[in-house]
Order: sequence, then structure tokens, then C-alpha cells
Amino acid sequence: MRKLAAGNWKMNGTSAELSELDALAKVHAESSVDVLICPPATLLSRAADRAGNSIFVGGQDCHAAKSGAHTGDISADMLKDAGATHVILGHSERRTDHGETDATVRVKTVAALGAGLLPLVCVGETESERDAGDTLDVIRSQLAGSLPDDLNGADFVVAYEPVWAIGTGRVPTLYQIAEVHELMRAELTGRFGSSANETPLLYGGSVKPGNAAEIFATSNVDGALVGGASLKASDFGAIIQAL
Ligand code: PEP
Repeated sequence: MRKLAAGNWKMNGTSAELSELDALAKVHAESSVDVLICPPATLLSRAADRAGNSIFVGGQDCHAAKSGAHTGDISADMLKDAGATHVILGHSERRTDHGETDATVRVKTVAALGAGLLPLVCVGETESERDAGDTLDVIRSQLAGSLPDDLNGADFVVAYEPVWAIGTGRVPTLYQIAEVHELMRAELTGRFGSSANETPLLYGGSVKPGNAAEIFATSNVDGALVGGASLKASDFGAIIQAL
């Protein structure tokens, strides 16, 4: 499977920041991994035009319905129409800020697949869940609830993002990352068979140029979902080079 470096710009970026894509395209020209940028929806179609063929562009969320009376929301078909190839679903900030549950993420995943988008489904434990020794149970249950049945492993991506590591500068040990990624591979294999070997498993949470190489060398880590360090092409480019 091809490795994936995915950048989540969150609620950051106006027209001026699109120039980062030009710089990124230069770095990426020398790499053999897939690169995805998920800008805010306001920049999506311009980012897709600017990124050309070398960088994939994705949404940060979609609504489960195809269209209708959902003020402020965006459907998967609309993302696709704007040039997106991927969409992040179930990010912990969506789960916290908008009360998204595993069931919400599951129906959004169905919608994304129906629109021809590749969903990046996020899971991750809170600090209190880790302290209580519940991490593996939480991940198992989030995966079971967030993914629809009958998927082919190549049709989606899973990102393990410990909530306590997002934007904090704190990172799990490599052992902790490996333990969760091994569990995820086993769970997906149990559910979707050997096609689960084709599912890219990303780590996300305070990935920086300085820690990317060791995280990428960890078993069952097939790439990263990067927030803060994806905003500058110099940082994200260094992470891409480490993959
Ligand atoms: C994220 O938002 O998905 C993320 C991992 O953020 P950061 O890299 O800033 O921790």
C-alpha cells in the first residue's frame, strides 16, 4: 500500500496560505508517498485547482445526507464536486465540539463512500481513558461503531489520534503507538479479512519534523495525520520526507 501524509488545516487559512501548496508541490515532487491537504471548506476548490495532480485535497467533515435543509453543512457530493478526493471523519474536535458519536461517523462514512470519497476515520482515547487502562477497549469500540459493514480495506483509512496528544506537543511512546496500531490491524482483519492489510493506518497527534521518522518506523504505521505542522510547507515537507 502507498504511504499517506495527510494535513489537517482545521479552521486555519485564507487565500494567502494557498501559496503553501506551491512550496509543498516542490517538496513532494521528490517523494513517493501520497500527500493530502484538508483545508477549510472555503479554500477547497481553489486548493484543488492549485494542487494539480500531485497533491490530493480533502474535506474535514461531511454531512450524512446528500442534500437538503441542513444550514451550514456540506455534503460528500459537494466536497467531491469541489475537487476533494478524501474526507476526514470523526476527528476528536468534531466529536467534542459537535457531539458526534460513532453512529454519526458511521453514517457519514457511508455517505463519503457513496460519493466516491476516501474516508479517513479518526479514533482515539482521552487522557482519562488511557489512565484508566481502557485505551484498547475504547479503540476497539470506536472502530466497531464508526465503520460500516462490508468494507474493502483499500476503500478507507483509519487515523489513530489520542485526544491528549492533539495539539499538545505530547506524543505516546512508540510502544503505545505500536500496540494500538497492531490492535487496529487485527480488528480490521477480523472484520474485513485480508483486505485490511490494504488499509493505511495513520498516527496523528503532535507529529513534527523531529519525531516523524521514529513514528513512521513503528510497525503498522503507514503514515500520519498532521494538524499544526501541516500549515507550513517547510514543516510538512520535512515530515513527508521522513515517510
Ligand atoms: C489533528 O488535528 O489531527 C492533529 C493531529 O493535530 P496536531 O498535529 O496539531 O497535534
